[in-house]
Amino acid sequence: MKIVICMKETPSTTAEKRFGADMRLERRKEDAIINPFDEYTIEEGLRQQEKHGGETIVLCMGPDTATDTIRKALAMGADRGVLVTDAALAGSDAVATARVLAAAMQHIGFDLALFGSAAADSYGGIVPSAVAELLGLPLLSFATKLDIDGTTAKIERAAEVGYTVVEAQTPALVSVMKSINEPRYPSMKGIMQSKKKPIDTMSLADLGIDASKVGTGASGEKALSAEKIATQRKGEIYMGNDGGAERVVAFLAEQKVL
Ligand SMILES: Cc1cc2nc3c(=O)[nH]c(=O)nc-3n(C[C@H](O)[C@H](O)[C@H](O)COP(=O)(O)OP(=O)(O)OC[C@H]3O[C@@H](n4cnc5c(N)ncnc54)[C@H](O)[C@@H]3O)c2cc1C
Repeated sequence: MKIVICMKETPSTTAEKRFGADMRLERRKEDAIINPFDEYTIEEGLRQQEKHGGETIVLCMGPDTATDTIRKALAMGADRGVLVTDAALAGSDAVATARVLAAAMQHIGFDLALFGSAAADSYGGIVPSAVAELLGLPLLSFATKLDIDGTTAKIERAAEVGYTVVEAQTPALVSVMKSINEPRYPSMKGIMQSKKKPIDTMSLADLGIDASKVGTGASGEKALSAEKIATQRKGEIYMGNDGGAERVVAFLAEQKVL
């Protein structure tokens, strides 16, 4: 089975976020990590490969330095990487991103394409469905369990109470939730092996995409502003024998907890 694992490089969730005058997030190489949601995407790809054999290919659209982040996914166990990078891609919104990923997936070919449920830097959550629409293929979204039996992909999708079971014929796209698995840590052997695994770099020209179809000019979505949420945690700290225990009991009684 040929499995494409879509992985975005995002800034670390703890890194200070700065925006340029054009409201684009400044992305520093030293802050770059695997989109935390995609650690589950990679793990699921590896588990399916362990069950059914075949090949796992990590696909990323990002800056040319994203090879370092792809290599972290290869250290977890994926076979090879494909990076789509091109100066004209800067400023691409989710739809433009989906256009590029869909073209790259067509170029690579696949039975199963895996996505995370969101990218931690933008939380759009629409790339998997946009790619499915562009490719005219089924998307099994928000999977909490995935089983492949021959050419049938079956998922469990969490509902408000319980879950629903949904299936589709491959080639199919699946987006996974964090509860689907527990991502592995790369082993020392995996890290050493990852250095020799191939990463192919592709440009827009390689994919036959006109530069006018991507980037800022082709992106209908415009970021207007970004605000930090002020945390307003009020707390009282009692030290030693300053009557703290009594005041906690009084507070709980006041809240009708006791
Ligand atoms: C005006 C504007 C300008 C932007 N400019 C840039 C920019 O210059 N550089 C930049 O990096 N982002 C940029 N972004 C953000 C970028 O568009 C989104 O991060 C990206 O399209 C993912 O969209 P999403 O949040 O809907 O992804 P989601 O749908 O939340 O992601 C779901 C899954 O899709 C897959 N996926 C998403 N993006 C990628 C990717 N790039 N490669 C591989 N898999 C992926 C992953 O599996 C991910 O878990 C910009 C956004 C806007 C609105």
